[in-house]
Amino acid sequence: MTSAGASPLAPEWLAVPADLNRLVPELWAHDVARRPGGGVASGELTVGGLGVGDIKSAYGSPVFVLSEPDFRARSRAFKTAFDAAFADICGGVDVYYAGKSFLCTAVATWVREEGLRLDTASGGELAVAERAGTPGELIGLHGNNKSDAEIRRALDYGVGRIIVDSLDELERVARIAAERGTDTPGAVDGTEAARAKVMLRLTPGIHAHTHEFIATAHEDQKFGLSMAPGTAGTGLSGSGFDGETGTASMAEEAVAAAAGHDSIELLGVHCHIGSQIFEPEGFEAAALRLIAFVAAMREAYGVELPEMDLGGGYGIAYVPGDAPRPPAEIATALAAVVRDACARHGITPPRISIEPGRAIVGSTTFTLYEVGTVKDVVVDVPVVDVPVVDAPGGATAGLTAVRRYISVDGGMSDNARPVLYDADYSVVLANRTSHAAAQLTRVVGKHCESGDIVVRDAYLPSDVRAGDLLAVPGTGAYCWALSSNYNYLARPGVLAVRDGAARWIVRGETEDDLLSRDMGV
Ligand SMILES: *Cc1c(COP(=O)(O)O)cnc(C)c1O
Repeated sequence: MTSAGASPLAPEWLAVPADLNRLVPELWAHDVARRPGGGVASGELTVGGLGVGDIKSAYGSPVFVLSEPDFRARSRAFKTAFDAAFADICGGVDVYYAGKSFLCTAVATWVREEGLRLDTASGGELAVAERAGTPGELIGLHGNNKSDAEIRRALDYGVGRIIVDSLDELERVARIAAERGTDTPGAVDGTEAARAKVMLRLTPGIHAHTHEFIATAHEDQKFGLSMAPGTAGTGLSGSGFDGETGTASMAEEAVAAAAGHDSIELLGVHCHIGSQIFEPEGFEAAALRLIAFVAAMREAYGVELPEMDLGGGYGIAYVPGDAPRPPAEIATALAAVVRDACARHGITPPRISIEPGRAIVGSTTFTLYEVGTVKDVVVDVPVVDVPVVDAPGGATAGLTAVRRYISVDGGMSDNARPVLYDADYSVVLANRTSHAAAQLTRVVGKHCESGDIVVRDAYLPSDVRAGDLLAVPGTGAYCWALSSNYNYLARPGVLAVRDGAARWIVRGETEDDLLSRDMGV
């Protein structure tokens, strides 16, 4: 890349924007814009018409700013697109919002109002759903190590599905459901009471990441029941499986075991093949394996599996150039695969469900930071990264370039993803526009770690200074949810904006909060 003003330190995918003030639509909530020129605060970033200057003075920073209409629109988009694509196959799709991406009672309420269901993965997430009044039958409970207390809580609340992750857990759910049977109100003869509604999480050997997927026979990970032949009977706690253990899979063993328990109602099978996936092929391959499995189980045991969950993982745009597929495109591609495979195997299509998290909440939110220190560091240019035009005859020795470090008032405590996953983000100057030259910049936090990076590489106007506001888009998923109090920083709150008005849906922490669990000497 040799565009004008490009830094030799910039990664290959990062182009110098023609206009540093432009908002790339894919990265932002639909109601984020720049205030038109001419008037007061012209050029500042607004969400639903509310300016970031007003947000900063009323609520401080850092702060997560979430567009409620955008959240609702994305929820509806998934529900509508999948319902339409699967209408003639299984009468529509149940969309479970993956609460772990970002959950509070307001969000639980919105997803219900938009016709979605809710996935939880712990007793705590279940508690939020209960506080929001989400009906039990609209909730799923995930987790590879659910405690007995979490299983009991789920059964008490009448959750619609417990997604079972191991043979161990299947036996535990069966036992707890059977024990509860006798003392549950409405129990008939101590047997009819509470059959636990169960999905089995299978590992179809498909791993997808962004653009590619790989398929393997065996899975080397903690989640799910293996579909690989020959894995039956290999679990530590044998289920007493007496099928053909030579060729059967652990997944098959689980189906047989579940069918043998009066206290279990086996709804179907589930898989989740990864996250931040852009292409539909991995989802399609996983759906094919699950459908073949359902057909095989009907053949082998006469077991009907009326539901199938294809998980979440739909990708979003984090940096310019990321091009996620719209929900309708993914839904149409998946529907074709499910329709054909079911016809080929001669099975009635199961009721399909999906579990998007990031793709619903990720782009609804930006984080607003205030700029503190600005520092230029002279860096040796790695020889391999030098554009040819700048290195005639390979004379690259001693070439240096400036990397600007801009420190903001948050960091890895409010966005752990760059540290955890090497995740890339983008950033814009938010309180004003600027026509200064582009400067390659690294936005960093205020923590005592050199790896405390918020945005690894971005071009910002060269006149950004202390007191300016920066906005980092795409922070709705797995940022607040993963936030910490490292260095005793108060975790930011989440501000929901609708019709030009803002309100806390989770307030920011105070110094009292930070000290509230310190029990003293
Ligand atoms: C995390 C997770 C999801 C949601 O993933 P996204 O990438 O946020 O869509 C869905 N299902 C399961 C089982 C998960 O663990």
